[in-house]
Amino acid sequence: MQLNINSIDYRGSIVDGPGVRTILYVQGCEQRCEGCHNPSTWDKDKGKIVDVEEIADQLNKNCINKKITISGGEPLLQREAVVELVRLLPDFNIVLYTGLSIEAVPRELLAKVDYLKVGRFHIEERTTVDPYIGSRNQRFIDLRRNYQ
Ligand code: SF4
Repeated sequence: MQLNINSIDYRGSIVDGPGVRTILYVQGCEQRCEGCHNPSTWDKDKGKIVDVEEIADQLNKNCINKKITISGGEPLLQREAVVELVRLLPDFNIVLYTGLSIEAVPRELLAKVDYLKVGRFHIEERTTVDPYIGSRNQRFIDLRRNYQ
């Protein structure tokens, strides 16, 4: 199975979930939110097609603390490949960012992902103080506590 990705950022983010995290940006998003932080990920015809096994290998080699955030772009546009990637990383702490609602998240991901950010970005509700979200309509959910 393959995933179209924009990039993997190993520099260590502290704003995309708890701790210092590697960010996997998937390619493609249809939401076109005004003020989006990453419009280069919108076009699904751009990006880089990579085998999911290869992405898992790279993360195992290069992400020492095993904390990743799957962001975008909209990861759920490629939900089967994302489910497969998460399945290949059983000992990783994983945050999934989606602009969709929790109802759109497959059960397999609700069961295996640690944290979930849901909701599209609303520039009128932009926040720089609430942790791990960009606008106040979004929710950052600890799935381990609430659903698993
Ligand atoms: S859902 Fe996220 S990636 Fe997509 S346009 Fe909105 S802010 Fe950008």
